[in-house]
Amino acid sequence: MSELQTIAVLGAGTMGSGIAHVFARSGFRVLLCDIEQRFLDRAVGQIRANLGREAAKGKLAEAELEPAMSRITTTVDREALSAADFAVEAASERFEIKADLFRALDRILPGEAILATNTSSISITKLAAQTQRPAQVIGMHFFNPVPVMQLVEVIRGMATTDAVYAAVRDLAIKLGKTPVEVNDAPGFVSNRVLMPLINEAAYAVMEGVATPEAVDQVFKLGMAHPMGPLTLADFIGLDVCVDIMRVLYDGLGNAKYNPCPLLIRMVDAGWLGRKSGRGFYTYEK
Ligand code: NAD
Repeated sequence: MSELQTIAVLGAGTMGSGIAHVFARSGFRVLLCDIEQRFLDRAVGQIRANLGREAAKGKLAEAELEPAMSRITTTVDREALSAADFAVEAASERFEIKADLFRALDRILPGEAILATNTSSISITKLAAQTQRPAQVIGMHFFNPVPVMQLVEVIRGMATTDAVYAAVRDLAIKLGKTPVEVNDAPGFVSNRVLMPLINEAAYAVMEGVATPEAVDQVFKLGMAHPMGPLTLADFIGLDVCVDIMRVLYDGLGNAKYNPCPLLIRMVDAGWLGRKSGRGFYTYEK
């Protein structure tokens, strides 16, 4: 595989801006694409602030900040992505949006380019089938906040070749991350294991086994988790947790993946966690 230089990042939200940040910081040129310029402007402001924070902490040389920023170009025009030799899709978690993007990327990017997705739950194999290059489609699953979290789950679709897997593994290492190889299955490993834990913690609260504080203390003090499962659920968003449980239930067909009724009720009430100011805990807006 030739040396990668220009990375297309699709979607400039929470994850896309973090992904653009780590690629630009590592010396790659980035073409950041979203559907509206204001989302791109917001992302660029966020990246600059986060790089500034890294510089203030001594994690990035002050002199590296402007060169990193200058490597990022924004666009609302997908056709401009023809200059990229690798793509990471981090658009909204809806199959139709991603399927449409993969068809477009397949048409626009050079034939040898790898198309990666940061999806949390959609089948890599199904997205690959939208393209004429399923062997070059792969999951590259970053974690939030991207500049801080060490893990990249690298997910092989049914047709992904060993060479494509190796290229993405090496790319994650170049970004200073630690890749972990996983096969395509609902929730991959991260959400397959984490979400049932959060769901069970919600059952413990619903059934009056313990308060949210007590559940979280058990995991922090007894299992050395830096954050208890219900604090983490509030951070992720309870709506996102319910959606992922439904993906696990639909994909695996086992009743144990049914979302906890308390989680569903809280989402119905608009108690989505940190982002809405209330979840298992309350937050200052
Ligand atoms: P987000 O809502 O913050 O950002 C999504 C962005 O995609 C928005 O700016 C939206 O305008 C843009 N978008 C929508 N349609 C588009 C299109 N056709 N072309 C280009 N851009 C488009 O979402 P997020 O939290 O950044 O999540 C993005 C992806 O990353 C999802 O697949 C999600 O499952 C995955 N993910 C999220 C997290 C997390 O903790 N937030 C962690 C890992 C993976």
